[in-house]
Amino acid sequence: MDAQFGAVEGGGTKFVCAIGSKPGDIRNHVRIATTTPDETLGKVAQYFQNIRLQTEIKSIGIGCFGPIDPNKGSSGYGRITTTPKPGWGGADIVGSLSTVGLPIAFDTDVNAAVLAEHRWGAGKDLTDLIYVTIGTGIGGGAVVNSELLHGTSHPEMGHIFVGREAGDESFNGVCPYHSDCLESRASGPSIQSRWGKPPEDLPDDHPAWSMESRYIARGLANLTLTLSPQRIILGGGVTIRSHIFPMIRNQLTKELSGFKQDGLLANNIDEYVVPPSLGTASGILGGIALARNEVAND
Ligand code: ZN
Repeated sequence: MDAQFGAVEGGGTKFVCAIGSKPGDIRNHVRIATTTPDETLGKVAQYFQNIRLQTEIKSIGIGCFGPIDPNKGSSGYGRITTTPKPGWGGADIVGSLSTVGLPIAFDTDVNAAVLAEHRWGAGKDLTDLIYVTIGTGIGGGAVVNSELLHGTSHPEMGHIFVGREAGDESFNGVCPYHSDCLESRASGPSIQSRWGKPPEDLPDDHPAWSMESRYIARGLANLTLTLSPQRIILGGGVTIRSHIFPMIRNQLTKELSGFKQDGLLANNIDEYVVPPSLGTASGILGGIALARNEVAND
């Protein structure tokens, strides 16, 4: 058996825990409901304490909903910061798992996902990659020069400004902070709020999808111009509706109007904007990838 690592995919409705080493070697999955921080994180710690009685694991990687403080030099390191989720503002994720007694890596869920795709998935062999999830919220993580991008804390790609589409002026969006950010205009709840139905209930030819593809394409154009990635991976519940991919690619080409013409963007846009090749496993594999990075050269 390969050396084993712990992984946590921390979300707003559930925390998924597992151990493993790579794609095809993930085991002992459990799902723990996200209730209060004390209850949920107590169960996560207990899970790893129990696992350690049977299996040696080297470290634990946590990809968590945010915003978070992933900066080890900061006094707030390891905590969630300003989430609107009741009770979770300031929750000490890393501290809660310190009783397990293992090295812990802590990052955003989307940085975990982009790291997994970089190591094993759609970004394998690339150096510059963006992963954007479009679901209940919108977030993005980036690998730049084969390293995760952090900056002061971490990027918030869901909150870049995309303006308002013609015909959408009266909709004020769903982000509590900004009316015209990508999350406000294009997240699952924005579709529900604007059209009265969740995205999974809208037929492929509903006008919601044309508008959605335009907003997403504008967001991806901004990210393309800022970070010049070799590839953009789009995940999350809204993009399970795969008919939206060709619409987004067409709109992205229009948005950039021939201005930026290099790499896959210019030569094969079908390979520039792609779904995650690890599918829904990119989150838990991201935890494994973070854990591996935490203990050098694994
Ligand atoms: Zn916003």
